[in-house]
Amino acid sequence: MTGWRFILITIVLMKTKDSRVINGQVSPDNLNPYYNESMEIEKRLPEHVLPRKYVIAISPDFQKDKFHGSIRIDLELLKVSFYYSNVTVNDLTISSTKLYTKKSQTEIQIQSVFPVRKREMLVIKPYRNISLGEYYLKMNFSGRLKGKISGFYLSTYVDENKSISIKFDILINFMTMISLHYLLLCRKLAVSQFEPFYARTAFPCFDEPSFKSIFLIRLVYSKKLFYHAQSNMPIVEMETMGDDNDKTIAYFEPTPPMSTYLVAFLVSDFECLGTHMNLLNESKIPVAVCVRPMFKQKAAFALNITIKAMKFYLETFQIDYPLPKLDLIGVPDFTTGAMENWGLITFRETQLLHSENDSSCTNMRRVSLTVAHELAHMWFGNLVTMKWWDDLWLNEGFATYMEHIAVDFLFPEWKLMDSFPLYTKYISMRHDVKLRTRSVVKRIEDLNEIEEMFDRISYQKAASVIRMLEDTVGNSKLISAVRKYLRRYQFRNAESRELFDILGNTTQATIDIVDFVRRWMRFPGFPVINVRRDKAGFQLLQRRFATSRRFSETIDDGSWTIPIRYVTSRKDGVKLDWFLANYSCGNNNVLELSLEKSVDWIKLNHDSIGYYIVNYTEDAWNVFGNLLFYNPSLIFTLVVSLIIFTLKLSQALSAMNRADLLHDAFLLAGAGLNYSTAMNLTFYLMNEHAYQSWAVAMEWFGQMNRLLHKTHVLRRFRRVPCLDIERSLQRRPRPLPEDNRKEAAKVPIGEH
Ligand SMILES: [Zn+2]
Repeated sequence: MTGWRFILITIVLMKTKDSRVINGQVSPDNLNPYYNESMEIEKRLPEHVLPRKYVIAISPDFQKDKFHGSIRIDLELLKVSFYYSNVTVNDLTISSTKLYTKKSQTEIQIQSVFPVRKREMLVIKPYRNISLGEYYLKMNFSGRLKGKISGFYLSTYVDENKSISIKFDILINFMTMISLHYLLLCRKLAVSQFEPFYARTAFPCFDEPSFKSIFLIRLVYSKKLFYHAQSNMPIVEMETMGDDNDKTIAYFEPTPPMSTYLVAFLVSDFECLGTHMNLLNESKIPVAVCVRPMFKQKAAFALNITIKAMKFYLETFQIDYPLPKLDLIGVPDFTTGAMENWGLITFRETQLLHSENDSSCTNMRRVSLTVAHELAHMWFGNLVTMKWWDDLWLNEGFATYMEHIAVDFLFPEWKLMDSFPLYTKYISMRHDVKLRTRSVVKRIEDLNEIEEMFDRISYQKAASVIRMLEDTVGNSKLISAVRKYLRRYQFRNAESRELFDILGNTTQATIDIVDFVRRWMRFPGFPVINVRRDKAGFQLLQRRFATSRRFSETIDDGSWTIPIRYVTSRKDGVKLDWFLANYSCGNNNVLELSLEKSVDWIKLNHDSIGYYIVNYTEDAWNVFGNLLFYNPSLIFTLVVSLIIFTLKLSQALSAMNRADLLHDAFLLAGAGLNYSTAMNLTFYLMNEHAYQSWAVAMEWFGQMNRLLHKTHVLRRFRRVPCLDIERSLQRRPRPLPEDNRKEAAKVPIGEH
């Protein structure tokens, strides 16, 4: 089939400083003579032009804080269409654009090149008819490094180790000092951050996750300034150029097929701490943590965690890490915590560095979790990528879930999974109570909606639902489904429904697991279950939780299928029942929970694994209050109470169940439950030695403290009888015992 007169090739826009330089020196008025204002341009890239391979050469200029680049994109044209657009002005400068046929390498004359600003696209319109087939596009471009923290950007730091020699130089030669200060003391580096849509600000590309392609990267830099270059793949060849052999070109191996947001460049003077790790195929690959030279000794802990976490993931997923090296980079200026660029993971320095002597236990846990999170992305996100950003949870939900599983495996003494709801469910619920919250899977089209997806819902809520799913189907079946998913879609893209189908076929659960997961991922908010006694046992009613009655009346999102795990005063183990979703019942969605024998109390949502909260009757809350409470005013009562208390709590309610009662009571107190009911539950805290309840209580005490600020009630709140909140702040247990810190840091590389 031959082409039409106007063939469209759409490339996501690289911002141009002056559109007059597009396509040589053509004036913008002449760029698009066929523009028609009534013509709407699609928000997403058309799928009839596919990038097959990129060859990118890019060179940072640290004198002018700019970069220059050239690119060749091999394209496959699958069909043709008409297209018109407007001309806009943006940041990046394109100095030339040429199109060739791949087979004959004949240049195709281009009639016009024009950006579509609101879509951040660049339209290239050939002058004559061209047929379907293979082509390649060559472009030269340049941009600025300075004044931004995304795309390809400039980061700086002061090299404190060199300050002494600089001071000495001051005495010798003032001019030398100025020069050395520039070159040595104040160090510059160029680094990239492309997720979700900043690759387009560094080089022309098809900047949507489904347009996977192979990338051949070449970085050009000055070796006089002690720089070296890193990218996703290892260097395959080095070449010197320039009049005095100043310039170096680093050629990198081609990447596997991957999305543009995972491409990474780094030109720096960092030093690396390295070792090797074994893959499933018994080959060894180099692994390194690279940081500014003064912090090299603080990289050992992250390297240690990397080796052990990668071993855990390899054995869990049974799919090899496909790249021939893995680098972790600590960047002085970084916008997020870390970024999972394939083979070249970048971190904010505080998320990567750990000193055995200076750093806290909290820092050790943070570094472990962040490293484990990014490494999980090597499979969830990099090997298999969501087709579009509305399924971001496939990346972030699984990475958040797996980071906890991996660190719990590496440091079982931390008992991390015993506190999983503290770091996931309880955090996301604070956002998920809002009327304007969103579902985990949310349809998005506009660019400005994409960055909003990187929130508590995609990370913590999705991880909580995955944890609930694991509890429902069992760990081995979930892992089995995950392996199938990763193997089937490796080096490709996937959507939620494709994972749901695999879950349905693999887990063989007693309920409709596809419907179960779909509801949790597609409904905003979360349910509250109201529990009432009836003759046969208990009556449960579910509805979406709302912080006000008015809000409650405005929402009707259907119902959830909810696993009801519960324990009772009979202490006869954890029981499971299902609260199945039923649209037809609407707000009257009721479950009769019948028990064989009567009980004094029932605690639903055992260990807070389900992503829901539970509201009991006032009497039932008081029973829980009495169960936890003791009266310290009498010494005798105190001693007896302590013994009874310890026995009762250890036998009846786990630490997470106790924390869950506090959490739900305080959350419900914001929606009608009497605050005194919630506060009554906290009186036992002076004898609580588990971290979970304290973490929940301190969060809510902090909120109440802010709420009551400058009111006459504040003083009374801080002096609540039996619970001196000010003193409590000093006494609360810590999440990680100090003793564990040095032990964990000393575990030799390669263990576990
Ligand atoms: Zn992530």
